[in-house]
Amino acid sequence: MGDALGAAVEFQAPGSFEPVSGYRGGGAHRLAPGEWTDDTSMALALADSIAECGWDLNDQATRYLLWWRTGRYSVNGRAFDIGITTAGALRRFAAYADARQSGEVSSNASGNGSIMRLSPVPIACMGLFPDRTDELVRRLIESSLPTHASAQCVSACACMGLVLSGLLHGLAREEVLSPKFLRTHLRDHSLHPEIEEVVLGSYRRRQPVGAGYVVRSLEAALWAFHDATDFREAVLRAVNLGHDADTTGAVCGQFAGAYFGESGIPDEWREGLAGRAIIEPILTRLLERAY
Ligand code: MG
Ligand code: MG
Repeated sequence: MGDALGAAVEFQAPGSFEPVSGYRGGGAHRLAPGEWTDDTSMALALADSIAECGWDLNDQATRYLLWWRTGRYSVNGRAFDIGITTAGALRRFAAYADARQSGEVSSNASGNGSIMRLSPVPIACMGLFPDRTDELVRRLIESSLPTHASAQCVSACACMGLVLSGLLHGLAREEVLSPKFLRTHLRDHSLHPEIEEVVLGSYRRRQPVGAGYVVRSLEAALWAFHDATDFREAVLRAVNLGHDADTTGAVCGQFAGAYFGESGIPDEWREGLAGRAIIEPILTRLLERAY
């Protein structure tokens, strides 16, 4: 839903568009109201992989490639957008068939493409929290590798996934956003310093930007979520930052959905979401598979 709300204003500067208050058609991809983009398609591919195969990185990457080549998991039968880093990684996967090696490790390839699709992992791995968080963190990190293997990206996935896990288990928002929570559960993983600065609370101080860099993207989503009174407020704050609005919306929507729950989502956003016949069977099977 965050992806669909942001899609109409992706690439636009904040203040240059009528503020988003609901689904809107148009935008760079000329979508209908409620249609969504690569963020949701890749999350569906990941969810479908976990539901079908358990934990298999090569299968995850195979489904990303299937989306890109055939339009499966897309809202309108076409993969009409893909990030540069993701495209490069999937080309390497197509050539060498090793998802652990296909993601770019360079700092320069630190887009938000692996946090935008992350939530199937903490949903599927609900049972690993809080007693087996080392295994949970390993999967969160691995989920980034097929497309985004930089230190920033894997640290962002580890932190975001732990926060989502805590929220899914009903812990208080302030508790899961506290430095102590992450320190307790991260154990051996040493965070990239820029991600550490974000999770220590930079989003409470800095002016957020809706950028594609994973550090700024996570920061903007946490800024929008951390003191929002409801799902609507969180996600609208995120998408109205413009620029990579669909992805800031998708990242924030994961936090807000985990915290406020399905009943906290406005009816018109649930009912107006396009492609529910694609989404719902995959989510049902993911939940059946959850452990
Ligand atoms: Mg997108
Ligand atoms: Mg985007």
